[in-house]
Amino acid sequence: CELPSDPQRENSRRQVHEATHSYVKPKVPSQPQLHHVSKAMAEALGLTDEDLKSDEFLKVFSGATIYPGTEPYAMAYAGHQFGNWAGQLGDGRAINLFEVVHQDQRWAVQLKGAGETPYSRQGDGYAVLRSSIREYLCSEAMHYLDVPTTRALSLMTSGDEVLRDMLYNGNADYEKGAIVCRLAPSFIRFGNFELFAARNDIKNLKKLTDYTISHFYPELGPPSKTSYIEFFRTVTQKTLDLIIHWQRVGFVHGVMNTDNMSILGLTIDYGPYGWLEDFDFGWTPNTTDNQNKRYRYGNQPNMGLWNLLQLANALYPLIEDAAPIEAILKQYQVDFETKSLQMMRSKLGIQKVSEEDAQLMMQLEDCLLLSETDMTLFFRLLSQYKKGTPELGVSLIKDAFYHPNEIQAERLQQWETWFKAYDSKLQNETLTDVERQTKMNAVNPKYVLRNYMAQLAIDKADGGDFSLVVELFQVLKSPYEEQPQYEQWFAKRPDWARHKVGCSM
Ligand code: AMP
Ligand code: MG
Ligand code: MG
Repeated sequence: CELPSDPQRENSRRQVHEATHSYVKPKVPSQPQLHHVSKAMAEALGLTDEDLKSDEFLKVFSGATIYPGTEPYAMAYAGHQFGNWAGQLGDGRAINLFEVVHQDQRWAVQLKGAGETPYSRQGDGYAVLRSSIREYLCSEAMHYLDVPTTRALSLMTSGDEVLRDMLYNGNADYEKGAIVCRLAPSFIRFGNFELFAARNDIKNLKKLTDYTISHFYPELGPPSKTSYIEFFRTVTQKTLDLIIHWQRVGFVHGVMNTDNMSILGLTIDYGPYGWLEDFDFGWTPNTTDNQNKRYRYGNQPNMGLWNLLQLANALYPLIEDAAPIEAILKQYQVDFETKSLQMMRSKLGIQKVSEEDAQLMMQLEDCLLLSETDMTLFFRLLSQYKKGTPELGVSLIKDAFYHPNEIQAERLQQWETWFKAYDSKLQNETLTDVERQTKMNAVNPKYVLRNYMAQLAIDKADGGDFSLVVELFQVLKSPYEEQPQYEQWFAKRPDWARHKVGCSM
């Protein structure tokens, strides 16, 4: 790494050679204000309520002061963006403060939006309140959905204005600056490995790989070609498992570039992400990806594989054998079929495996695509299904249709056919209706962070009222539970929100 005493120790943009990171200083915010804390995350770090109320907390987690004895730094990485090699990137608006080990768990602690770093390129290193609320709420929501993710500790505004050229409202405009403290055991990305491989810096590639294995995959043993192969196998499996979770809950990341792929298989970098409302394999929330829709919902598993191939290329100099790598990548495709089918069984409350299951799922997907059908509502309503009542199926799930009165008879027919097939499948199952419902409701969330919900919270917060941030945080803490007081959030996207999309910058 670059030495702390290096006269170059400054935040100016530069290419950094043979470095994993550069020491930087967070920008001192003019008037930091704390708006929300994830209590569970605070507890995981060993912070007490008193700590959270202290001036020291406000200062350290806004970047106003540097915790004694620590050296904040920004990481260098590279990446493939939208299928193209993008060269050196890095933490352009994230600064690592320090690491905390508490209750045998290591947490790397980052500030997102604390100012420029050597990797900021044309950006300013700041984050606006809008994108910060989106990352803060969604990363914690994902945690409570049991989806592997980076976490968030705190949401603050900086008191500074940030200039943004808005995709959002069409004008260049000042917005409130904000800082999210986010955490993960590690923020190392596929792109960290790609950086060294691209520079043919095998010494540092090996150092990084050995570090990653010894800290995060110690079960793989000491450095050897075999442990590097097993490392790649494990990362492949974790990545697949992550994407299966995304498909299960209807999460679309939006920017699955290799610099946004965690080596620990975590959801990382919440930008223009979105949640499926009407079930649609072709949907992406990312308006800059509108042409090819590379990162559309239905393509996420393929893109995971594509990204793993880039990681494989990066690790190749340490493995020097294509055969095991190819076998692992092939296995991803086989495992995807098996695991996605199993995931769909769980969503339907099916326990027995049979040959016709794949067909049942395909027919369901065809039905869901017949007319706009809300994915989240559909699966929750379906959990109320009573064995032996296929003729009542359509009326049970009708609330999930966006245009219930416009559905043609032949399409309803197709739904009825599917309910008959579903019912005959259930006839061979031993679960009671109530048992099946309980199982289904444990994997089909009732509450997800629909884009319009985040937007309402953002609009209010922009006016100084964070009450909706507080409320949504509370709702999303128990996404699988019935919360009658929050029934209004178990609803289809309202018409006014139809073409709104999220924004990342
Ligand atoms: P993302 O698409 O958010 O993963 O960002 C891609 C790259 O651009 C990363 O290296 C980010 O750190 C950098 N970046 C994004 N926004 C900013 C910003 N406002 N200031 C500096 N760098 C940024
Ligand atoms: Mg990123
Ligand atoms: Mg969105």
